[in-house]
Amino acid sequence: MTTHKSHCLILPYPAQGHINPMLQFSKRLQSKGVKITIATTKSFLKTMQELPNLVSIEAISDGYDDGGRDQAGSFVAYITRFKEVGSDTLAQLIKKLANCGCPVNCIVYDPFLPWAVEVAKNFGLVTAAFFTQNCAVDNIYYHVHKGVIKLPPTKVDEEIIVPGFSTIETLSRIESSDVPSFVVSPEAERILEMLVNQFSNLDKVDWVLINSFYELEKEVIDWMAKIYPIKTVGPTIPSMYLDKRLPDDKEYGLSLFKPMAYECLNWLNRQPINSVVYVSFGSLAKLEADQMEELAWGLRNSNKNFLWVVRSTEESKLPKNFVEELKLTRENKGLVVSWCPQLQVLEHKSIGCFLTHCGWNSTLEAISLGVPMLTMPQWTDQPTNAKLVKDVWEMGVRAKQDDKGIVRREVIEECIKLVMEEEKGKVIRENAKKLKELARNAVDEGGSSDKNIEEFVSKLVTIS
Ligand code: UDP
Repeated sequence: MTTHKSHCLILPYPAQGHINPMLQFSKRLQSKGVKITIATTKSFLKTMQELPNLVSIEAISDGYDDGGRDQAGSFVAYITRFKEVGSDTLAQLIKKLANCGCPVNCIVYDPFLPWAVEVAKNFGLVTAAFFTQNCAVDNIYYHVHKGVIKLPPTKVDEEIIVPGFSTIETLSRIESSDVPSFVVSPEAERILEMLVNQFSNLDKVDWVLINSFYELEKEVIDWMAKIYPIKTVGPTIPSMYLDKRLPDDKEYGLSLFKPMAYECLNWLNRQPINSVVYVSFGSLAKLEADQMEELAWGLRNSNKNFLWVVRSTEESKLPKNFVEELKLTRENKGLVVSWCPQLQVLEHKSIGCFLTHCGWNSTLEAISLGVPMLTMPQWTDQPTNAKLVKDVWEMGVRAKQDDKGIVRREVIEECIKLVMEEEKGKVIRENAKKLKELARNAVDEGGSSDKNIEEFVSKLVTIS
């Protein structure tokens, strides 16, 4: 029987982009001897395609056990009720685990759920916040929290001064189009409030863990580390993708959608090396029908092969007969799927460019697997991630919108060519390779993130 050094309860916010990195982090802790229990909502559990085979999962309640967020009617209603019901049911779970002989001694919570700190403190548990955004974005939210930055910006081309970035020239004065945006939601203000609230209770936690790595964001990490006990622990993708020597399963997360793995990989296997544009806007973003149309023709006109993830709820926005016509083309230049195994796709040798919305997980996965990016950010932290990709890490370009907010087909076509074949894109392709190496080193034994995880685990053991 394995004797565990410690027992961590992991509490992610119920969304695809949150559960993936927190599950991966859990597995890494588990590989270092920590027992893990993931707590998620009953409604979220029901939407999962399959459960992970390595960690235990327990259900708590968000107050909407049958329909989750959709049943709540509004985001504000959801988050308010989740706090009330979640606090109680989380406390009950902690008691239940203690009663059955496996008491928890630490909670790793998602700062979208800051109330977890109070629950943890009532039980005298060690508490660690796990940020699923990068440190640069956290730094911006921190300064909004402190009242130093006002979001959303009042003017379109307003220049925003961000403390903490002072040594990074490209970031210390950024344009309004590069800060997190909330324009798409009627409840934008409340979403911003939740993002900023990530910093409430943060002065009471023992650790602030961030899914990033030191070499990627040195300056801003050093700056924030003066305020909070920050430890970078990323990239939290299965180590197997970074280092083939390590035994690991290829399972990434708890998928909410069924990946069309066979279709994707089979199709990719038939494409030449570096020839394919992989296109995905993640699990939440919704494009306008006009934008879908421009994207469709931009991809077709680029004359490159493409694999495009269009979630079933977005399918109706595709141009009429687009998918049927693709199937008829002799070269079979494109494949549209409803969901794919993204890491397996990104690591495939046929992929030459990732057209991405710049969700942080997708961005970090592209960095870790060395895939140059063409960014089309939509909202929240995505514009800032796109800015980092283009101007700080120089591993991609950003497709410019016109004055109606649409990225036109010619722009998409031009950007794809730049990233994949033009001399101008050479530096981007080279940087992608260099960053992949840095990411790999960070999680390798003795690397910056690995050391931080080791330190976290040994502190937990000392405390228990
Ligand atoms: N993803 C996937 N298959 C897809 C599209 C996305 O597995 O077809 C995964 C992707 O690897 C990432 C997550 O879904 O881990 C999306 O998270 P991200 O932060 O990029 O975007 P969000 O969905 O939160 O907007």
